[in-house]
Amino acid sequence: MVITIDGPAASGKGTAAKALAARLGFDYLDTGAMYRAVAWAALQRGISCSDVEALRTLLPQLHLELTPQGILLDGQDITSHLRTPEVGEGASLVAVIPEVRRWLVELQRRHAQGRHLVTEGRDQGTVVFPDADLKFFLTAELPTRARRRWLELQQRGLATDYETVLHELQQRDTRDSTRSDSPLRQPPDAILIDSTHLTPQQVLDIMELHARQ
Ligand code: C5P
Repeated sequence: MVITIDGPAASGKGTAAKALAARLGFDYLDTGAMYRAVAWAALQRGISCSDVEALRTLLPQLHLELTPQGILLDGQDITSHLRTPEVGEGASLVAVIPEVRRWLVELQRRHAQGRHLVTEGRDQGTVVFPDADLKFFLTAELPTRARRRWLELQQRGLATDYETVLHELQQRDTRDSTRSDSPLRQPPDAILIDSTHLTPQQVLDIMELHARQ
């Protein structure tokens, strides 16, 4: 069984997907972390995340492994390096490159084989798992998402001001929803949840209710 959760940046997908997977006893897949891992690998090597040719050459050299604990790149656990604004920005740049998307989509499908999975991202219900058993589209108003992301960054000691976070999220939304390959959009058969006025607990309860129906 596959449950997909798609939605814009900072909509609460990660929190919801992880908790839903735990409640149902399913595996959890964070596909954003995979795009972040490619960006991180590029940045580590001094490659620009918009250098298409260099990234094409880099991809076949990378060995990405998904474990319950996190992401291994060439055997090294890089999970703790992936949630910085710089890597997030890089991820949204590498995500517009069709070869990168094809490579990661293939990994995601392979990972789902033989598993019960809750997977979150931008294209999970539309492109990667169009036949998923249950699909959600989780969103929230932009200022709410920006405030949540800003708080998250504060808590992790990555100080930045609210206006910058808002501006970056806006840019990310635009890039994610206008890329030619597989723009972020709501799958027609997805359940829409707007979390602007909901707590994470309420979002989770709604999702669990649908999953157990
Ligand atoms: O969800 P997260 O912020 O970790 O994703 C980072 C970036 O990776 C997104 O802004 C998006 O550009 C890209 N992404 C994607 N498709 C996915 C997951 C993430 O294009 N399935």
